[in-house]
Amino acid sequence: MRIQEDLRGIIQGDVRCDDVFLQLYASDASIYEIKPLGVVRPRNLDDVIALVRYANNRNISLHPRGSGSGLAGESLGSGIIVDMAHSMRRILQFDGESIRIQPGVVHQQLNKFLARHDRVFGPDPATSAVSTMGGAIALDGSGSHWLKYGSTRAYVEALQVVLADGTVLDVGPNKNIETLCAVPQVRGVLHKPQSRLDDIESRMKQLVIGHRDIIKEHTPSSLTHRCGYHLNGILKNEHFNLAKLFTGSEGSLGIITEATIRTSPLPGFRGLALLFFDRIEKAIEASRLAVNMGVSACDMIDRRLLALARATSSNLGKAIPSDAEVMLLVEMDAENSQDVRHRLRMIIDRIQHRENLAYTARTAVDEREVGQIWLLMKNVIPMLYRLEGSRRAIPFVEDISVHPEQLTTVVPELQTVLKQHQVTASLFGHVGHGQLHIRPLMDLSDSNDARKLHGLASDLYEKVVDAGGTISGEHGAGLSRTWFMRKQF
Ligand SMILES: Cc1cc2nc3c(=O)[nH]c(=O)nc-3n(C[C@H](O)[C@H](O)[C@H](O)COP(=O)(O)OP(=O)(O)OC[C@H]3O[C@@H](n4cnc5c(N)ncnc54)[C@H](O)[C@@H]3O)c2cc1C
Repeated sequence: MRIQEDLRGIIQGDVRCDDVFLQLYASDASIYEIKPLGVVRPRNLDDVIALVRYANNRNISLHPRGSGSGLAGESLGSGIIVDMAHSMRRILQFDGESIRIQPGVVHQQLNKFLARHDRVFGPDPATSAVSTMGGAIALDGSGSHWLKYGSTRAYVEALQVVLADGTVLDVGPNKNIETLCAVPQVRGVLHKPQSRLDDIESRMKQLVIGHRDIIKEHTPSSLTHRCGYHLNGILKNEHFNLAKLFTGSEGSLGIITEATIRTSPLPGFRGLALLFFDRIEKAIEASRLAVNMGVSACDMIDRRLLALARATSSNLGKAIPSDAEVMLLVEMDAENSQDVRHRLRMIIDRIQHRENLAYTARTAVDEREVGQIWLLMKNVIPMLYRLEGSRRAIPFVEDISVHPEQLTTVVPELQTVLKQHQVTASLFGHVGHGQLHIRPLMDLSDSNDARKLHGLASDLYEKVVDAGGTISGEHGAGLSRTWFMRKQF
């Protein structure tokens, strides 16, 4: 309650400490629940600066939050939750290629706006309908189309961030600028803004140049890596691009209050090949062939998710054979529809007819149907949380990533670990770039299952690290993986 009194008149946005509100912000999409001290919904930059200074002076932790769809507990904490999704959600400027936005802009809203100009923000978290761009930047988000677009980091041109002492930095590839803002003084506390940029840049230089070999040695061979700070590629021609460092830092280095992001042209035509397999090993082998044929997405969907898809959509579900163990969903795009059809035919010819990997396949080239299939696949994943009975897909091991060539050896090893712990799991993910979601089906109210969590995660992660991979290829370290970071690095 004290927080509310202290911040009255200093912050324009909502400050809430009532129980119902705190409970709402005590959880996200992870398995964790932590009740915060308060929730603040800043309305503008000045609100963020004032809040940060207040919290700094009282040693209260701040936890920036977008829509809270993170799976690793990244936006939870016992201090003050800073809800950036509520009031800071405006598109500020668009010049035809780059767009300046506030962090609360929702990914799907951004792409709806851009589509009117034949542009797109390519990296595509499956939670596009709810997740914010602040969350995507803080986690270096990506999704099914990583093969075509890569991750958010490649598109961040500039960021405005508020550091822990209230300093505002505008950071980007060409210059980093420090602004000393005139902000309302927090009650009874005198502020002396200090210059931080020189200090940060010189210390970063020492760290990155002085530890170049160690950084290289501990960078995994996986194509994606969302664990720890991203120190590769932040120094170019003696200039530090701090925007690249803030991207993927999970809100731990500062609060993003504005972002300028590069967009891409919308692809001309696209189509899908749905390839069905009787064994996961065959699907993984086929994914290597598909990637070499220039696909824009290559996702693997397992038997459990296929069953949910069949039950959810009577129309599209008919296309999914009931005996399929695994499906590869492969997307091709091209300048014209004939080209798309031709390329999809070549993929099926190779994977089904010449290599005998898939036992059946079909294509979809009508844009409406393509959109519906992607939507169905995105919608069935949350259904794993609502299975009948008490067991649920538990998102705590989550999104390991190894170099795609390692998948054929790593997947059987992971399956052996699951068997040793007597746990079944749903396995799916963006196998085209070596990333796999492992969602063990467990009942956390059963003490036997709850006891298994730590050992199971540890054994699975060991296999991944031994193969040169990362324990997080997509969702960040958060609470669920921080404990294993020492082994990762
Ligand atoms: C079913 C399901 C599917 C998913 N699929 C994908 C996927 O395909 N790809 C993917 O990348 N992720 C995926 N996710 C994870 C998650 O949805 C994404 O990472 C999403 O981008 C997070 O956005 P958010 O707005 O919910 O952020 P939150 O969960 O609220 O926060 C995520 C992190 O960002 C930080 N943050 C948020 N805003 C700011 C800010 N303004 N300044 C500083 N830090 C900030 C938070 O502190 C936290 O560390 C999935 C989640 C679910 C539940």
